[in-house]
Order: sequence, then structure tokens, then C-alpha cells
Amino acid sequence: MRERQILPLVVVALTGALVAVVALWTLDRVDSSQGDLTQNDALGLQSAPKVIEWKLVTTWPKGLPGLGAAPENFARRVNEASGGRLRIKVFGAGEIVPAFEVFDAVSRGVAEAGHGASYYWKGKIPAAVFFTAVPFGMTAQEANGWLHYGGGLALWRELYAPFGVIPYAGGSTGVQMAGWFNTRLNSREDLAGLKMRIPGLAGEVFDAAGGSAVRIAGGEVYTSMQTGVIDAVEWVGPFNDRTLGLMEVGDYYYYPGWHEPGAMLETIVNAEALAALPEDLQAIVRIAARATNTDMLDDFTANNSESLQILLRDFDTEVLPLPDDVMDALYEQSQIAIQALVDADPMAKKIAASYFAFSEKVRTYHEISERAYLNGRDRLLPPVKLTAE
Ligand code: CA
Repeated sequence: MRERQILPLVVVALTGALVAVVALWTLDRVDSSQGDLTQNDALGLQSAPKVIEWKLVTTWPKGLPGLGAAPENFARRVNEASGGRLRIKVFGAGEIVPAFEVFDAVSRGVAEAGHGASYYWKGKIPAAVFFTAVPFGMTAQEANGWLHYGGGLALWRELYAPFGVIPYAGGSTGVQMAGWFNTRLNSREDLAGLKMRIPGLAGEVFDAAGGSAVRIAGGEVYTSMQTGVIDAVEWVGPFNDRTLGLMEVGDYYYYPGWHEPGAMLETIVNAEALAALPEDLQAIVRIAARATNTDMLDDFTANNSESLQILLRDFDTEVLPLPDDVMDALYEQSQIAIQALVDADPMAKKIAASYFAFSEKVRTYHEISERAYLNGRDRLLPPVKLTAE
């Protein structure tokens, strides 16, 4: 009878102990996990964020200051602002795709982003030229006003939408130089037969004015000039022309850049890649692109001024104005080329209507603001010297 009574007691005791151990272990787990949560909250810690990596392809030689610095700065701003959640790696022309295949690479998703100039795609999208430069068109300040507060950017988005590409203004060089020529230009007749590296609508204008436009990416212009493949080259202005060493291969440096009065660049992104980002990262991309746009103009304003002094002082560069007769010929042909583009392409017609309406308004305003001020200042300050001291 005693054995019968002891066994159930042992079972009850063991069961009780087991329940207690399990209960204590469970309590401990709950306590420690709650403790961890409390501690993490206090430290603001979360689980490691997902890192998204993008490739950005450019039309510029890797490491080129100015034009090439802009996409590097864009990537750095995105990386910093996102705390490393969106990492963008920048590739120069030819590293993943050649310069003139950047748009297609972004459109097809080979790269999520790109940086270049829209007029490089004019063979595929004729109206794209309006978003880099229009001969005798708007300056950087004017074009930025049109893009961001005059409807220009919405038209640019519409133009690229069929390709799954979203554009942002990607910087501006300001007014460019007319270029380096190995022959002196005295009249429009001197353009006859000249082979010149000059892209975009201006290339067609140059052809119509008697010259011969050649399409060459930045990485090849020095050699093309040196070997006589071309007689003239427009690249950008003192800053980036000096980077490429063009003062060593060109005899005369002509101004002004009638063809690129405020050449705008572009930061482009693949629409699907952008849509896949969380909203805050999309905002970071947008804000970094806008910051890069204004920053590039600042970079060019400072460094064009500095580089012009170096060209005059250290290289005895001969800086000359294009004769009026040459400017007249280029203007006449520009009007014909723009009209032909507008007549042939409905999107070009739509964009041109917006562009020139804005251009006329801002030209009137700048008559009594920018121009009036610059003229007034020049009347009072010592004359500008375009020769070495
Ligand atoms: Ca140019």
C-alpha cells in the first residue's frame, strides 16, 4: 500500500519540477527578448538595412573633371544621404558600354542610371536636342528656369517615357566656346570643307554652312585633332578643353559657343529601377540629381574662369571672336535646321513651342536685368584683357 502511494507522489513531483523548469526557461526567454528590444530601442538600433546597388554608366572618360565629376558627385550624395542603403557605382565611357550606348543601357536595365547629354540620342529621338542645346537658344540660367518652372522637364519626361527612362537636369557647362580651329576664319567661305567634331543639331547646321560635322566621343577628340582626322573641334570651354589638352592640338580658340549657349547634361534612371525603391530613396535620387545640376554650373563657372587665365598665361592661346559673317551664316542655317526638325517630328514641334515661348519671355526680361547689368558694369570697370599680361 505504501509503495502504491509513493509512486504517484514521485510522478507528481517530477512532473511539477519539469513544468517549473519549462516555465522558468520560457520566462527567461521572454524577459531576455524583451530586454533586448528595450535596449535596441534605446540605442536606435534596427536589423541591418537592405543595401541596393546601382550601376551608373556615363558618356565621359573615367576621371574627367567637370563633366565626369558630376555623376561621381551624384553617386556620392545618394550614398551619403541614404546612409549607404543605395550605393551607386559610376562607370566611365567604355567600361560597361561605349559612350553613345548609355541611353540604351539605361533603357534596357543593363545599368540603373546614366549621365550624358541628350543630343547624343538624336538619331533615335530627334527632339532630344532641345534638352542639351539649341543653337542661339537659351543660356544655362534661362534653360533651368524653363525646365523646372516653365514646363520643360515635364516634356522631357514625356519624350523619354516610351523608353522606360526618367530624365533629370544633370548639370550645365554654361556658355561654351565655339571651339579650336586649325585655320583662321575670316568669312563664311572659310567654313567650306572644314571637318569639325560638333554634335547635335549644330552638326547639321555646320554641314549646311559648308563644313563637315564628325561625331566623336570626348575620349578620342585629342588624337583626331592631332592626326588631322578633323580640322576643328568643339568640346566644352577652357576648363574641360584644357583637361583634354586641346590647346596643344588647336591653333585658334574661337568664341562664343553659338551652338551650345548653355549645354545641359542629363542624369537618367531606369523607370522600373526607380519605382522599385522605397519612397525615401526615390526622393534622395531626385534631390541628389537637383543638387548635382546646380553644382556642376558652379564648378564650370569657377574653373572656366581659372582655366582661361592659365591658357592665356601659360599657353599663349589665341582667343578670337567668330566674325559676324560667320555668325550670320550659322544663325541662318540654325533657323532652317530647327524648322526642319519641327516640321518632321510632332514631339519636336510640341517642345519647340514651349521652348521658344519661354525663350522670348526670358529674353525680354534679361534685356533689362542680366544684359543691362553686364553692360552697365562693363562701362565702369577697366576693359577685360583676352591676352597674356
Ligand atoms: Ca560641346
